[in-house]
Amino acid sequence: MKKRTVSFSRNTTNIFFHLLTACNLTCRHCYINPDQHGRETLPPETIENWLAAFAGKDRPAGGANVIFLGGEPTLHPDLPFAVKTAKRLGYGSVTIDTNGYLFHDILDKVAPGEVDYFSFSLDGPTPETNDPLRGDGAFARCAAGIRETVRKGFDTSLIYTVSRDNIAHLDRMPALVADLGIDRFFIQVIGIRGKSAGAENPLQLTREEWMQAVPQTARTAADKGVTTIYPKVFLEAGEPFECAGAVADNYFIFPNGRVYRCPLCEDFPLHGFAFENDALVPRPRLTETDLFGLTVPEGCVMNKLIQPDNIAYGPDGRPIHRIACCMLKEEVRSD
Ligand code: SF4
Ligand code: SF4
Repeated sequence: MKKRTVSFSRNTTNIFFHLLTACNLTCRHCYINPDQHGRETLPPETIENWLAAFAGKDRPAGGANVIFLGGEPTLHPDLPFAVKTAKRLGYGSVTIDTNGYLFHDILDKVAPGEVDYFSFSLDGPTPETNDPLRGDGAFARCAAGIRETVRKGFDTSLIYTVSRDNIAHLDRMPALVADLGIDRFFIQVIGIRGKSAGAENPLQLTREEWMQAVPQTARTAADKGVTTIYPKVFLEAGEPFECAGAVADNYFIFPNGRVYRCPLCEDFPLHGFAFENDALVPRPRLTETDLFGLTVPEGCVMNKLIQPDNIAYGPDGRPIHRIACCMLKEEVRSD
């Protein structure tokens, strides 16, 4: 068993490209916020121009990685065009994040050599636990979609977004991901954005709740041969804090042209860049870029500003644990 902290890659560009915000589901914790992200379905020429804006930059061999998202990206009829365009432009890897409904016969229109991973989302190990969060019938459709994707020879990931609503069921996920033939299991932490920002009950977990459930589940999944990745969330004393916005090269693109470097900023017009006439341009102050260099005792400044319920303070008024950048991950593998 190998466990390691995956620090930010300074030499790799990761593009999280939301092609549209429309979706067939209405998940309870959906982070998409059309008022901030737009309602457009991007035309193919815009997709190509925006992909090209990153492909030609001074990047090391291997190219950037692109993750196509929505909304539900398989609702976009030009998703196969987007995949093939990314490959033609030299992107190093292509991932499609999907809720599993796999519209427009996407599995018949792209090949395993073109899509590195189909990444599915489930928030419970059974219909009874998943569907109250993601919608009636969502578990069955997603599980069937995963089995079909594996049968056609694609590599797959599964994302489970942990909140107070479903952490009690997390320990049953390793058996499911192994049974479904999943290659990589991502345990994600709920972000208080989009619909979650309006939730009545606190969704964030304390360090104790997180540490009791997540690392052990990751080990169990890795024991079953499934590489498991989860965010670090809480830094131990002496562990360095770094902000990915300052040291890494991630871009979160939305169909209204906003481009963020930090996912926690996505509910606000703080984007550091924007597409204007298909050119990527930095925005004038004040943006997220001005926040990345701030030092606060709580670690991540955006966590403190928008979702501080995971911070505990000692009697001296100082935070007991600093909050890591949401992009800092732990990886557990069996080999
Ligand atoms: S599948 Fe994704 S985009 Fe669609 S409602 Fe659920 S969380 Fe939102
Ligand atoms: S989550 Fe926090 S630490 Fe990470 S990029 Fe955003 S502001 Fe920086």
